[in-house]
Amino acid sequence: MPDEHPLVAAYRAFSPTSETLAERAQAVFPGGDTRSSAHYGPYPLVIEEAHGCRLTDVDGNELLDFMNNFTSLIHGHAHPDVVAAIQNQAPKGSAYAAPNLTQVELAELLVERIPSLEQLRFTSSGTEGTLMALRCARAATGRQKIMKMEGGYHGSYEQAEVSLVPMPDRRGEITAPASLPVDASFPDSVLHDTIVCPYNEPAHASALIDAHARDLAAVIVEPVLGSMGMVPATREFLTTLREATERHGIVLIFDEVITLRLDTGGAQAVHGIRPDLTCMGKIIGGGLPIGAVGGSRALMDLFSPNRENPVMHASTFSGNALTMAAGLAAMRAYDAQEAARINTLGERLRTGFNEAFLQSGIRGQATGAGSLSNLHFTDAPLHNARNNIDGLVEGGHIGRLLHLAMLRRGVMSASRLMYCVSTAMTEADVDTAVVALNESLREVRPYVEAERPALLAGGGGS
Ligand code: PLP
Repeated sequence: MPDEHPLVAAYRAFSPTSETLAERAQAVFPGGDTRSSAHYGPYPLVIEEAHGCRLTDVDGNELLDFMNNFTSLIHGHAHPDVVAAIQNQAPKGSAYAAPNLTQVELAELLVERIPSLEQLRFTSSGTEGTLMALRCARAATGRQKIMKMEGGYHGSYEQAEVSLVPMPDRRGEITAPASLPVDASFPDSVLHDTIVCPYNEPAHASALIDAHARDLAAVIVEPVLGSMGMVPATREFLTTLREATERHGIVLIFDEVITLRLDTGGAQAVHGIRPDLTCMGKIIGGGLPIGAVGGSRALMDLFSPNRENPVMHASTFSGNALTMAAGLAAMRAYDAQEAARINTLGERLRTGFNEAFLQSGIRGQATGAGSLSNLHFTDAPLHNARNNIDGLVEGGHIGRLLHLAMLRRGVMSASRLMYCVSTAMTEADVDTAVVALNESLREVRPYVEAERPALLAGGGGS
């Protein structure tokens, strides 16, 4: 490959067996992968095994895992309590179409910890959790439309993705953002039924809710905008959403699929705000597939099979015994002390990353909250999805080069440069990542100078 970028060529040299397997995968998976979110170019590393915070790939490279399967592995890999729980349950069967003790125990633990939960339903994914929350809200209000945040991601269906990527030429005014499709599969009806709200803009949010109140069943919001760069919501913004939805009898849904890790009671405990419904997933499954929706008894009762015309919720693997066992073990091992410890490690990571950017002379920053972080190639303030997209546009291909450079230094993040800390990590692991970023920024700097000079601090070349 004569024209290949030198840093891509270096990545190929680092991972030849992964490349061979990627070629094989091309035959059976579209684009060579079964999961688009975890895919990156030229091909992803193929992982052989993982323990604690360390992954080993098929070439024998060891990597610190700051990806943690997109934030779902709160304890990293193969936590002894989780392994023991799975080993204990597996010989007794993985799933029965019947209740089991562990699902009641895990539900009790979550209801005890999360302030707004009185009852919940388990689902098999976060996608299904948010879907059931929206259906519950429609049934409760008799209204059709949903408001979601610009750049918010709530799962793999159309309404959960509207305006996920608000590109500058299409997104419209910030006072009334356009409802944008993500791909060619989006029905017009979904765009029509989804009102898009700008993130962290309380005045605009309040005005939009007032304007659409008659039609709005729900407002769904992530307390930290995850997919669009780990941008935390301000308390003022979340409070405004709470007040405006209360004013109009609209169901306020917190999507805590990612943010539940910020405190044993989730982001709602951090902010002292009670949503009507909460969606959960990721960490509560102990590394196995899961989701959940919960809230007040009055709303959750709409799912009750004992009532007339309940909201239909089936789901073959919901509450399966194996996931419940793993989830219960993982949640018991995640107490307030561990939450505080990894949140502090996350702060340390962001401080180190921000210093690395300053030293490199490349404009950039780390955003995030607690154990959740994201890198951006902009030093402008970041408080919504538009700022994040603008940073991505400014960064161009440099973010991808940095991701590959970090992998070669043994640090795994999401390719969009999202990093999350697990309880398996120590300060030394975080410091290793900071050193890797220092070195990686030094390595990409000549390419920034040559290919993207506007990214140099102090106006160099822009
Ligand atoms: N909600 C949020 C905030 C998410 O980040 C995700 C997944 O990344 C989901 C919902 C969907 O969860 P799942 O991938 O388990 O379907």
